[in-house]
Amino acid sequence: MHYPLTERLKRVPLAHTPTPLEPLPSLAEHLGGPAIYIKRDDCTGLAFGGNKTRKLEFLMADALAQGADTVIAVGGVQSNHVRQTVAAAAKLGLKAEAVLCDIVEGRDGEYFASGNVLLDHLMGASVHVIEASVDATSYMEDLAETVRGRGGTPYIVPMGGSNPIGALGYVRCAEEIAAQGADIGVTHVVHASGSAGTQSGLASGLAALDSPFGLVSIGVKPSNGAIRRDVEAIVPGVLDLLGVEAEVPPEHLHVNEDYSGPGYGLPTDEMVEAVTTVARLEGLLLDPVYTGKAMAGLFDLARTGKLGAKDTIVFVHTGGAPGLFAYPSLFRGA
Ligand SMILES: *Cc1c(COP(=O)(O)O)cnc(C)c1O
Repeated sequence: MHYPLTERLKRVPLAHTPTPLEPLPSLAEHLGGPAIYIKRDDCTGLAFGGNKTRKLEFLMADALAQGADTVIAVGGVQSNHVRQTVAAAAKLGLKAEAVLCDIVEGRDGEYFASGNVLLDHLMGASVHVIEASVDATSYMEDLAETVRGRGGTPYIVPMGGSNPIGALGYVRCAEEIAAQGADIGVTHVVHASGSAGTQSGLASGLAALDSPFGLVSIGVKPSNGAIRRDVEAIVPGVLDLLGVEAEVPPEHLHVNEDYSGPGYGLPTDEMVEAVTTVARLEGLLLDPVYTGKAMAGLFDLARTGKLGAKDTIVFVHTGGAPGLFAYPSLFRGA
């Protein structure tokens, strides 16, 4: 695989790439609309993988360049991002501070004990669960101060790894999709959007490659346009790091929030249907927080004909299956 845009940028290899692009014929037949392929970024290989591993290749290179010995990561209690950051730190011999915000209402015991948070403990992170009312940014700054106080060098990873450096990971993914999708007539790339780094990287990469593929970004929380504003803020920095001048079409900045449900990490019936259907038809595990909602969006867009028989979809599987174990009651009796 050739990476014309990102080849010369500082990166530590952490991900198994290129990830496979595979057809989902049974699902496509079930929906009766577009051809569907899946980009297996759940298989990036680092401690159950997922999309954050690509971002961390660039973020960890930055951390090492700054002489960091401790990384501080933030997310929800079931953060896939924190789990992958803790794994990257372990692999590179750095300490990890995991700041987990208790922001999803109505969760039970396994939400706090299993899935991603279990793996954070297993991989040796110092885990801090903080209440929703606590300001995570100042909490992380206090932790950084403590690290400096003991003679260490902290590196604060932004929420979701989503800044221009992290988003470079999804420029690299766009490079792979452009190459792998060249012969199958791809019309749209569909993915889940949360902290905006994945979308920013894909949008920047597709624009820099002058790719004709559409980008359908499905929001995983009702944000009133905040995710889009984050994308608009990150994209110029990504293009700057790439050293290219490209026009990102406005529809690639758009976030479809129709499938986000009542809030981040809160289940919807459509998500449960999508996760269950894909598991049974393809033996493929989506997740309850991100890819399940994005797939529910794809189901609806296919059923309403907005994505039709003439279309060929690449659904980016951004990972997250460890989160299934935090929501057992949704799937146990299905
Ligand atoms: C973080 C995450 C996303 C969203 O990516 P962003 O770059 O934060 O928008 C999607 N899927 C999974 C499984 C994730 O963990």
